[in-house]
Amino acid sequence: MDLKTLYRTVIMDNYKNPKNKGLQRTNDFHFVHLNNPSCGDDMNVEILVSDGLLQQIHHDGHGCSICCSSASVMSETLKGKTISEAKEIIQDFYNMVKGEDPKDEEALGEALAYIGVRDFPARIKCATLSWKAVEQAISEVEDEGNKK
Ligand code: ZN
Repeated sequence: MDLKTLYRTVIMDNYKNPKNKGLQRTNDFHFVHLNNPSCGDDMNVEILVSDGLLQQIHHDGHGCSICCSSASVMSETLKGKTISEAKEIIQDFYNMVKGEDPKDEEALGEALAYIGVRDFPARIKCATLSWKAVEQAISEVEDEGNKK
């Protein structure tokens, strides 16, 4: 199997069988909603942070296969990571889809499947929507922590 086929398989598998899909919306979770009007993608993400770790990441929404599959891959990639690890991976993902070489391919894991998005600039927002949502959720959790 060549790399392009492998990456397409990762995207389709996560689109058809998304992991960590479905929200709990309890007070333990921090919730963020974002949308991407240019494609019609609509994404909800919630995170549970404790002991400085992203213990749980859930997503729910609708949109194109790139957006929905990317939310599944994002949740699997970042789950269990520390806040600072997660921020680095998120930044690496943004840089990768914009055309830079990823710094840490191992940390990105299945998220490497979205490297081809760099050739379709209109789809970059689709691929990054759930990552923007989790990034915002992390920074809001950090802000709350600083207030305490
Ligand atoms: Zn889309």
